[in-house]
Amino acid sequence: MKKCLMAMVLTQMLTMNVNAVEDKNFNYHVDNFADIEVLRYEVPEFSDLSLNQKKMLYYLSQAAQSGRDITWDQNGRYNLKIRHLLENIYKNFSGDKNSKDFKAFEKYLKQVWFGNGIHHHYSSDKFTPEFSEEFFTTQVRALPAESLPLSNGETVDSLLSTLTPVIFNPEVMAKRVFQDGTKDVIVNSAGNLYGEGVTQAEVEAYFDKIKNPGDPTPISYGLNSRMVKEDGKVVEQHYHLNGLYGPAIAKIIYWLDMAKGVAENEAQRNYITKLIDYYITGDLRLFDEYSILWAEDTKSDVDFVNGFIESYGDPLGMTGTWESYVNFKNKKASHRTETISGNAQWFEDNSPVDSRFKKPKVKGVSAKVITAAMLAGDAFPSTAIGINLPNANWIRAAHGSKSVTLENITEAYDMASHGNGFNEEFVIDAPTRKNMEDYLYITDMLHTDLHECLGHASGQLLPGVDPDALKENGSALEEARADLFALYYLADPKLLELGVLDNPDAYKAEYYKYMLNGLMTQLNRIEPGKDIEEAHMRNRQLIAAWVLDHSKKSKAVELVKKNGKTYVKINNYPEMRRLLGELLAEIQRIKSEGDYEAGNKLIQKYAVKVDQKLHKEVLNRFSKLNIPPYRGFINPVYVPQYDEQGEIIDITLDFSENYVDQMLRLSRDFSTLPY
Ligand code: ZN
Repeated sequence: MKKCLMAMVLTQMLTMNVNAVEDKNFNYHVDNFADIEVLRYEVPEFSDLSLNQKKMLYYLSQAAQSGRDITWDQNGRYNLKIRHLLENIYKNFSGDKNSKDFKAFEKYLKQVWFGNGIHHHYSSDKFTPEFSEEFFTTQVRALPAESLPLSNGETVDSLLSTLTPVIFNPEVMAKRVFQDGTKDVIVNSAGNLYGEGVTQAEVEAYFDKIKNPGDPTPISYGLNSRMVKEDGKVVEQHYHLNGLYGPAIAKIIYWLDMAKGVAENEAQRNYITKLIDYYITGDLRLFDEYSILWAEDTKSDVDFVNGFIESYGDPLGMTGTWESYVNFKNKKASHRTETISGNAQWFEDNSPVDSRFKKPKVKGVSAKVITAAMLAGDAFPSTAIGINLPNANWIRAAHGSKSVTLENITEAYDMASHGNGFNEEFVIDAPTRKNMEDYLYITDMLHTDLHECLGHASGQLLPGVDPDALKENGSALEEARADLFALYYLADPKLLELGVLDNPDAYKAEYYKYMLNGLMTQLNRIEPGKDIEEAHMRNRQLIAAWVLDHSKKSKAVELVKKNGKTYVKINNYPEMRRLLGELLAEIQRIKSEGDYEAGNKLIQKYAVKVDQKLHKEVLNRFSKLNIPPYRGFINPVYVPQYDEQGEIIDITLDFSENYVDQMLRLSRDFSTLPY
């Protein structure tokens, strides 16, 4: 597995100096509830785009929002029903809106919106409602019949008896993505990618049978299907126009077709056509053809992702959760990534990896910085800050990949973090803080660039090695590989020579942040007593804990106590870099050789277990700061302006909508699937 969502941890919290122009009037903060802060992002330079580009962004945004229900349904088979029901209770409620039950209900609804379902977007644990079952039952019974999401033959009683345990019983559908390999990961996952009664062994046997290990251009089996049991056999229900999710896909196709009409060039028209064909047929060969055309179009300014892409929601890592990103190129900032990717071969040749595992020729690592214009599906409200697609290994090897950094999103995170007290609490001393204030923004951006443009694209498998050989550890090890590549090169004089950094000590800001995050502060996202499960978090702890463990003699990195508090102390940055290079070489070997055993050993030893005492301390220190561990975004509203003939003459953006209104509007305007 290869795909990348750079989930933000530290950039969400640390205060950094933004080099960009600060818009003092823009209000980044939107809402706060549970462990979440909702922000809005700016769309700089939208007004400078041509009318056709604006139209294209508008149509693509409509296509993006049309898929919302797909993600909800993939995340859980009752999610659409529950959303409909909760929203109607919310809108119909005539009691005391300051009552404890209503407040708790409102919080729960906001959480469900954020999770695109009843599970947490990140931990995938089911939300715990803090309102009473009685409150819920009373509200459901008070709804007029036409406001109830009843399926054929369903009554209010049967609806309640179905949904009450799903919402209230912590044992029922407890986890969306269950990844502890000691039990059947499909049976124990609450997501809706597999139907009732389907087992892990059956799915694995099914794909083992149809996969051809020798195929040099293998399709991404299972990417666009739900597996169900029919007459005792597992079969795939494909997502396409006349298949599963057809009504939503029809709307997506409509808007993609509109976008095609204003495409910037032939190459872009071609890949949109191919994407539409794929949506019509569900044929994964067409998806690969689309992916190649898409990866090879580096000319267009407006760009987008729309489809079943990332497979983090599938415990077996095959089925893609629906998502969409709509964006346009940030030309000024793209100079940085173009410089880096223009030197891709140098980075590949000079990495500390065994030459057998290096690509003799790094192909088409295109990289750009983009301005996000619409986030949707699995990318909304929580989003990545960097994307590197397509995911199919053979396409990446033969045709290259496109790597993007979402700068306006990173900027919004940073702007919203000013003065939150994080640095003062967790960073060991004033000089380190100063260096981070001066250089963390740029080194963090560069880390993302290097991770996306070069890290994932680097290296090669030895002939005959199964790309899925690392199994359930594949994602975490792949993220570690890309992070290590980025960290190793952040300290390289080459970056000064290329002019993307101007101080040989700048990298220390990112090194310190990475160790602090991996060893301590990311634990803020873990509940007391729990292990680390999410792939990116495992990757970060793996790297940080391995480096710490291998610093015992040299004391390059240590954890020290000051006034009863634990701090990361880095005594020898060059030695830390050497260690990062050593681990990079080992993880590349593991990937290239498909050495499952060694990979699993690394993961089990360093990435999973949490130091309970340190965890408690971190949570305690965070609780005094009032920094929510997770953040996400609402989108601007696209408002077309029409002339008398009904032609669009301009499109403007409205940033005034709040979180609740946006969610209710999306449900009103983009309910594309039946419940
Ligand atoms: Zn990645």
